[in-house]
Amino acid sequence: MTIRVYVGIGSNLNDPVAQVKEAIEELEVLPDTIMEACSSLYSCKPMGPQDQPDFVNAVVALDTLLSPADLLQRLQRIEELQGRERDGEKWGPRILDLDLLMYGKKVIDTDELKVPHPGMHERDFVIIPLAEIAGNISIPGHGLLTTLINKVENHSLKKLITG
Ligand code: ADP
Ligand code: MG
Repeated sequence: MTIRVYVGIGSNLNDPVAQVKEAIEELEVLPDTIMEACSSLYSCKPMGPQDQPDFVNAVVALDTLLSPADLLQRLQRIEELQGRERDGEKWGPRILDLDLLMYGKKVIDTDELKVPHPGMHERDFVIIPLAEIAGNISIPGHGLLTTLINKVENHSLKKLITG
């Protein structure tokens, strides 16, 4: 039986729109996986250090047979394929960041994988694109998306390309 998962995509280096589009293409061809929806692309001010370019963000919905660990490994492989280096500063610039936001209703808390992705419920650049494709789902441990959106500060999100 397939599981509905949501993956967050972010980039702020080397033509971020192209990086996000390429990542979407790679996610579309994951084995044992079907892409069910893709949000618009948004631009967003960076979290943390401000002396870096704006981010481009999007969220996709996948139905997959892959295990959480397999999926994480494949997401990291796509990051590497697109030239992501894994030694950058926390919240620093990156060519591609793929985060496993949700894996069904599952809660996972290991060193390698935390699901729901920590902090996703308070980040406008995650929950606004997520709501576009997922409707009013609830995030395990955090409640309904619409309630979270009403609480979040929409500091800088701008729709770039309508999905
Ligand atoms: P961040 O996305 O928080 O800026 P990174 O992309 O550099 O950080 O990821 C650092 C580590 O986070 C990865 O090595 C991975 O094992 C771990 N991680 C934990 N939970 C998740 C998740 N839900 N999705 C992606 N990576 C995760
Ligand atoms: Mg990440």
